[in-house]
Amino acid sequence: MNLLNIGNRTLLRKQLRQWLLETEPSRLKTLWREADRVRHDTVGDGVHLRGIIEISNYCRCRCRYCGINAENFELPRYRMQREEILKTIDCIARSGYGTVVLQSGEDPGISTSWLTDIIATIKRRHDMAVTLSLGERTPEELSLWRDAGADRYLLKIESSDQDLFEHIHPSRYTNWLNRLQMLRCLRTLGYEIGSGIMIGIPGQHYDILVNDLLTLYDLQPDMIGNGPFIPHPKTALHQELERGKDHRNQVPNDTLMTYKVNALMRLLCPETNIPTTSALVTLDRENGRELGLVRGANVIMPNFTPIAYRASYDIYPRRVCLQETAEDIQRSIDACLSQGGRFRARGPGSSLHYQARRKTLLG
Ligand code: SAH
Repeated sequence: MNLLNIGNRTLLRKQLRQWLLETEPSRLKTLWREADRVRHDTVGDGVHLRGIIEISNYCRCRCRYCGINAENFELPRYRMQREEILKTIDCIARSGYGTVVLQSGEDPGISTSWLTDIIATIKRRHDMAVTLSLGERTPEELSLWRDAGADRYLLKIESSDQDLFEHIHPSRYTNWLNRLQMLRCLRTLGYEIGSGIMIGIPGQHYDILVNDLLTLYDLQPDMIGNGPFIPHPKTALHQELERGKDHRNQVPNDTLMTYKVNALMRLLCPETNIPTTSALVTLDRENGRELGLVRGANVIMPNFTPIAYRASYDIYPRRVCLQETAEDIQRSIDACLSQGGRFRARGPGSSLHYQARRKTLLG
């Protein structure tokens, strides 16, 4: 069953908008079923686990949605030490994961050489993919980190609308064109690239969200992570949400809209990796993970940041799993997977796209 006419842009735009506005339960069931079928037929029933470590919450940016923005002076700041990071990675490796994700604020204190050494050490010690998610960095750094063994880079476009992007990112350290350029540069350097958007940012109207989906389709990332915008009381957008939410065209920042976006993304980019993001699970603690996995997703990114630091990586409030140990994570994931007839995929879990690109390159 073809729910979308991908070859006809005008029709596709209309269909995407209709699905985003759909409320009829039986029609929505059709969308979930189709996203699940396409997921099953392309990437299969294996679920890839990526262990994430939030290595620093220092940030020079002033993003109007994010709680670790530079102007939140009350937040205790931390940067993990080399040995702490490597010890945490040993724990992720012992848990049988094939990927570690190093994430942080836009922290100039993360120096090129310090991170180069950490990446090279991980690659020497473990048979694991290394993903970086450190915001906007220079092409020279990206090239050195790639040479040291980094495999993937996650950089969300957050919004395809340049005006909205610039409104929510007032800092001179981040801009929309640079993000797109950086994604292109990463791909040329041989990284697998990840991107995505936030859903329900104040000012994100339906026509913008449709463009977000089409921009991601055109970009064809190897991973697409989308999460609902969760207002943080220490940010400017928290107030704007209250003011803007009655606008007729405002996209809601809720779980239903997030499930729809991920299901549509699966139909648009069948071969990509799609995680159930922690922001989604934060809004639906009971069922977020399970429902995400049967509505298009095939990746989970459990948080391995040492518990002492987790609350300080305060990008949005009431984040899930602030106290969860590696064992707790394991138990809850195993329960979730066995319920749904899915299983833990082994190995690094590169996207099918990336594997095809490698084959072409290697002849
Ligand atoms: N500094 C890096 C990593 C940012 S944190 C970067 O800019 O790429 C990772 C992600 O958390 C962001 O990309 C954003 O999509 C998400 N995030 C931050 N604040 C949020 C909020 N209030 N609600 C929902 N998601 C948020």
